[in-house]
Amino acid sequence: MKIRAAVRLVTLVGSVFALIAGGTLAQQVAPMPKRAVSPIEAAQQVAKDAAEFEFLGALARTCFLPPSRSEDFRDIPAPYVSDPSKAPPRASWYAEPAKVFDNLYFVGGKVHSSWALATREGIILFDTIFPYNSEELIVGGMRKLGLDPKDIKYLIVSHAHQDHIGGAEMIQKRFGPRVVMSGPDWDLVEKVPNRFKTMAPKRDIVATDGMKITLGDSTVNIWFTPGHTDGTISFTFQVLDRGRPVNVVYSGGTALVYEYSQPDWGIKNMQTYINSQRHLAAKAKESGATVLISNHSEFDNAVNKNRMLAGRGDGAHPYEIGADWVQRYFVVTENCARATQLKLEQQPR
Ligand SMILES: [Zn+2]
Repeated sequence: MKIRAAVRLVTLVGSVFALIAGGTLAQQVAPMPKRAVSPIEAAQQVAKDAAEFEFLGALARTCFLPPSRSEDFRDIPAPYVSDPSKAPPRASWYAEPAKVFDNLYFVGGKVHSSWALATREGIILFDTIFPYNSEELIVGGMRKLGLDPKDIKYLIVSHAHQDHIGGAEMIQKRFGPRVVMSGPDWDLVEKVPNRFKTMAPKRDIVATDGMKITLGDSTVNIWFTPGHTDGTISFTFQVLDRGRPVNVVYSGGTALVYEYSQPDWGIKNMQTYINSQRHLAAKAKESGATVLISNHSEFDNAVNKNRMLAGRGDGAHPYEIGADWVQRYFVVTENCARATQLKLEQQPR
């Protein structure tokens, strides 16, 4: 009986092996047909590999979410301007202000960011969020951090969208800084005045590529990076981390702007955007940028990183990701724009 049982076991094991081997053989003989990777998927894969966990927000926004529909192209006031009760609830946008570097302060909200660069001669403010929250987040935030809004000498607006220009008129009127924006975006503000009602500052300095804004011991280099708007501008500048100089690149506009109903315009605009990403990537590299910041927390994780700062101790600065990782951001945005451009090329005409 014992021998017969052993024989049966050997036969069983043998059959299992034969089955596995047969399966392997079958696979060798008739492999599963591999689906060809389309050029769109290939570009998306390059972006995904570059993003890892650091730039998931930029990846999601530029590669996988539907096109941005945030901008209303009609010349009518924003709903929250005509009726302030239509402003989103405070809980959806409030975030604590934070001192991020020795001389760079976050005065933004959960989604949209403003930044204050403090110099010996006053403050350079970047972007102004919406009309309904710029008072509390920027003016209130600065005061909470011990900065005086009266010291704002320059206000630089990355681009004329309501989530970044919203508080510019108020800040220009109350604190009298010089206001810097690109020519195409000054034109846009003047072309549709009702859309920018209560938001638009009076035309002042016209930003150009390579322009330097110097105040006290700080210089902001302006780079012309159109694509998100016709005149989006971005920046490189230096900050101090516990006295150590650290180079920062500030991306002025990230989301892709296109319409499937206007493929030719979209294809052209994607190329403008791609060229801008390459331009800013080169400037970031030249300046030795190891920090990438944005005007949306979605792209630089500002709100989460501000929380991490509190527990930093003697560790690395949470914003300082290194020059290679800064470059990866541009790999993400460029390849997602390319994938979108390919999709638009396939649109029927
Ligand atoms: Zn925008």
